[in-house]
Amino acid sequence: MLLGSPAAVPCRPVNALSLDVEEYFQVSALERHIPRAHWERLPSRIEASMERLLELLESSGARATFFTLGWVAERHPGLIRRLVAEGHELASHGYAHIRVNRQERRAFAEDIRRTKALLEDIGGVEVRGYRAASYSLDASTPWAYAELYAAGYGYSSSLYPIRHDHYGNPQGPRFVHQPLPDAPDFIEIPVSTLNWFGQRLPCGGGGFFRLYPYAVSRWAIARINRVEEMPAVFYLHPWELDPGQPRQSGLSLKTRLRHELNLGRTEARLRRLLGDFCWDRMDRVFVLGRATLPESLLGCWP
Ligand SMILES: [Zn+2]
Repeated sequence: MLLGSPAAVPCRPVNALSLDVEEYFQVSALERHIPRAHWERLPSRIEASMERLLELLESSGARATFFTLGWVAERHPGLIRRLVAEGHELASHGYAHIRVNRQERRAFAEDIRRTKALLEDIGGVEVRGYRAASYSLDASTPWAYAELYAAGYGYSSSLYPIRHDHYGNPQGPRFVHQPLPDAPDFIEIPVSTLNWFGQRLPCGGGGFFRLYPYAVSRWAIARINRVEEMPAVFYLHPWELDPGQPRQSGLSLKTRLRHELNLGRTEARLRRLLGDFCWDRMDRVFVLGRATLPESLLGCWP
């Protein structure tokens, strides 16, 4: 059943919007084709993509969380200060987009501390949120949450509980939870999935938002809100609004499709999404209300 447009509902419930701030050439799916050593030589396009994103958010009144690479923040400090000044949340995506399950514990601890300090120095605000590159917290990284908590982070949004060849943990919890028994004030906020006849379907953004017709994404998010009575958690990348980005050679058909599919349609779809639902920063949707989760969120529903 396709639900009616949630635009008729006055901004309830509030969903969580996030952007992973990285260049088009820093995507994990392209790492075999574009070594980190080449990053400096490639033309940066993040400023123009972020400009469009920030204008879209401003015109809709939405605020979002920007999980930002330290590498990008160092090279574009003005961008970081601007998103903070416009009321968005600054959060960490690690320094150089290395998957957590490819790091030793000590290297991970250093990376999350270094990036937090760097972002806080540039942005002038405390950084509480973290998202792992390619949702790469899994059974092989049981130490990751403890290290994030010890480093001063208040939440992670590093779990996409789906089956996927590059990321995801299909057994993981679908909704916000406390992964550390001894730290109830630290929470994990998984990206949204839909429970559909026993199957978990991804509906939290990224490539799936570009793949599905917009009506499917809208229906899935409305269903999470109305049937499961939970906020949706959605993500995109600035490069997904950049159809003019350089095309990479030597990609497999699957990788090319995943990266390039419907890039020219993302901006219009995002504009509709911002109009059809109410969106805010991760910390305001979840972290500030954690003491009363989920009642405080359910209370938002009319
Ligand atoms: Zn990323």
